Amino acid sequence: MRAVCWMGKQSIEVHTVPDPAILNPSDAIIRITRTAICGSDLHLYDGYIPTMESGDILGHEFMGVVEEVGSGVKKLKRGDRVVVPFTIACGNCFFCKSHLYSACDNSNPNAHIAEAAYGYSGSALYGYSHMMGGYAGGQAQFARVPFADVGPIKIENDLPDEKILFLSDIYPTGYMAAENANIQPGDTVAVWGAGPVGLFAAASAYMLGAGKVISIDRFPERLKLAEACGAFALDYSEPDLNVIEALKDLTGGNGPDSCIDAVGMEAHGETTGVYDKVKQALMMETDRPTALREVIQAVRKGGTVSIPGVYGGVLDKVNFGAAFGKGIIMKMGQTHMQRYLRPLLDRVEQGQIDPSFLITHRVGIEEVPAAYKTFRDKAEQCVKVVIDP
Ligand code: NAD
Ligand code: ZN
Repeated sequence: MRAVCWMGKQSIEVHTVPDPAILNPSDAIIRITRTAICGSDLHLYDGYIPTMESGDILGHEFMGVVEEVGSGVKKLKRGDRVVVPFTIACGNCFFCKSHLYSACDNSNPNAHIAEAAYGYSGSALYGYSHMMGGYAGGQAQFARVPFADVGPIKIENDLPDEKILFLSDIYPTGYMAAENANIQPGDTVAVWGAGPVGLFAAASAYMLGAGKVISIDRFPERLKLAEACGAFALDYSEPDLNVIEALKDLTGGNGPDSCIDAVGMEAHGETTGVYDKVKQALMMETDRPTALREVIQAVRKGGTVSIPGVYGGVLDKVNFGAAFGKGIIMKMGQTHMQRYLRPLLDRVEQGQIDPSFLITHRVGIEEVPAAYKTFRDKAEQCVKVVIDP
């Protein structure tokens, strides 16, 4: 099959590789019909995630048709149409049983590497380094899906792939970010980042009862999509704009009830270096976490900060005193995907949201290397790339 391979920092190539095969009775093989590039893939592209190896297959947002199932799979059969969540969970450990799927203890055979590097380990992820399990990703024509009775859900409607695909990550991620923001009816919610995660967070904040959502970014095409979700847009690159003051003006002086950091460690101008060895991850510092600092500074006293944006390693110079002094609540983490697939699929089927609204680029698999660069550079007004492999 053809697959998108990570060959090194900012080096992506499409190669012919062996088709995946069933390795365990609980596996399924999926023929992929649609997949996408995620903001999280950019951390790999830019070399921020340790333990990638040349030739690793990328991609964690995918859906398709079941080609083959292992002898232990009960819920799926050949021919079923499925969407696959990006976190791999066993469904059976203490954490899965507590619905903390992204903390699964059984899916990552390399958890000890992450623990040595970072002091923690979560569930395995598709296409996201050996430290995160070493599973081949879904930017390919086929993928092996472990714990196939736990992750994928069957799609039994006729909706096109583009309306279903983002259940694999960014829609649940934006939704959990809004849930983590403790939104009370009528609350004002500010969202840093109008990328795919920030856009779904903004849309979800309204679904969860927000009265006003404010989206902050610097790319006009992204802010326009935020406005289409009903948000008030702030362009933080405007020379005369002070984001904190603007948010105070919009909230009667208090600041937003909830603030969501949908940016993560690579906030504009914030990168400090490239780390390609696990031990260096211990020393990884993001010494100017602009978005996170602004989020803490802006939120009202007693308010909530929700962080879906990814942070790795050590974070320095966070205004923790302000967080403490204001008595804020902070919630964060990798999305517990398996919690959200069914309820969010229901919302899509009921027409409450059309998740395809943010797609700007559609490419075939051979065009993916160029598409990574376009998405990374936010060129050609790119917001989300969908791949037909
Ligand atoms: P993206 O790169 O497309 O979007 C990020 C947006 O943030 C961009 O539009 C950028 O202009 C904006 N931005 C940068 N600096 C900013 C600042 N200082 N203030 C305001 N906006 C700023 O990425 P995405 O796909 O939307 O993903 C966003 C983050 O969410 C990434 O860190 C990604 O890894 C993370 N993510 C987390 C999970 C999870 O499970 N928690 C899942 C998927 C993605
Ligand atoms: Zn993703």
